[in-house]
Amino acid sequence: PLVLGIESSCDETSVGIVRGEQLLANQIASSVELHARFGGVVPEVASRAHLEAIGPTLRRALADSGVDLGELDAIAVTAGPGLMGSLVVGLSAAKALAAYLNKPLYGLNHLIGHVAVDLLDHPDGEPARPIAQPCLALLVSGGHTQILRVDDITSKVTEIGTTIDDAAGEAYDKVARLLGMPYPGGPVIDKAAASGNARAIRFPRGLTAQHDLERHRFDFSFSGLKTSVARWVESCRLEGREVPLEDVCASFQEAVADVLTAKSVAAAQHFGIGHMIIGGGVAANSRLRSLLEERTAAAGIELRRPRPGLCTDNGAMIACLGAQVVKAGLAPSGLGIGADSGLPVQTVLVPAV
Ligand code: ATP
Ligand code: MG
Ligand code: FE
Repeated sequence: PLVLGIESSCDETSVGIVRGEQLLANQIASSVELHARFGGVVPEVASRAHLEAIGPTLRRALADSGVDLGELDAIAVTAGPGLMGSLVVGLSAAKALAAYLNKPLYGLNHLIGHVAVDLLDHPDGEPARPIAQPCLALLVSGGHTQILRVDDITSKVTEIGTTIDDAAGEAYDKVARLLGMPYPGGPVIDKAAASGNARAIRFPRGLTAQHDLERHRFDFSFSGLKTSVARWVESCRLEGREVPLEDVCASFQEAVADVLTAKSVAAAQHFGIGHMIIGGGVAANSRLRSLLEERTAAAGIELRRPRPGLCTDNGAMIACLGAQVVKAGLAPSGLGIGADSGLPVQTVLVPAV
């Protein structure tokens, strides 16, 4: 099916177009520079930027794909989770398009879009392949950090573990801020870490102590790590030592990658699942990707990693999930649905009201 997907849950206004697993267009307009000086996304600023960007982004995606609006089989859109004021802009645009074209509308879960995106063809000519099911998904983004069991990417997703405080991406952003580095922190820390020593400082691995494992075996915690980095940096300043920025970044990155990979591999083994997939902005992280490759290989688990360019928010992932839902023959959401800033991860497709 030929599906157009709209994403506007946070600070990216994006429109993607796919034909089944084939990516035809993926236009992304980000308002990230507008938020950079605040060190995080300002909701009011984001929704205004979405309003301005949605029309041009849609036109550019259509032009890229060479597709006429009338040819589309369906419109897919992020219905949640995300910022309310941002979500409604994309959802309103999607409803208008669906109504005007008289095509079905599918309101989808942003988080499952992050997981589904690797279904798309890879540019290196590697053919698209279905996600083996069941499969364990490690979802690591700016607002979420979860281990999911995926029995059916269109309809059956269960949460196995989650963060009890900060998300992994949020930890990257907060640590960057306290190190005086720009927002978003993930890419800059990743880059700085490349020339640092990951063993220089032993930062804590949250919820890995024996007593924590009893209750939180597959859960994460990153706020203690952030505090530990802050204390370490403060002690440098008190002692008049220069902060070895690259070493701090590399050691912090190692702590995040270590605990994410250790717990997801342990979960796969515990549930006897031989396939793993990662998704979300932090899935672009170089150390997470390499360590996960090492550890899944050692455990005999097959790993899928989306190309780094499709890990952060984009419309293609929503179009891609939309195409799967259409193929599965699921009922459209219809024009009556609303945005849900707290849409639970189990709700892949918002049911009609
Ligand atoms: P959610 O998907 O939970 O609603 P979001 O959409 O804001 O949150 P994403 O766009 O999936 O989040 O990811 C953005 C996050 O990814 C940011 O926190 C950013 O710092 C982080 N990130 C991006 N690239 C990297 C990288 N190379 N290494 C680590 N983190 C990264
Ligand atoms: Mg973003
Ligand atoms: Fe996201």
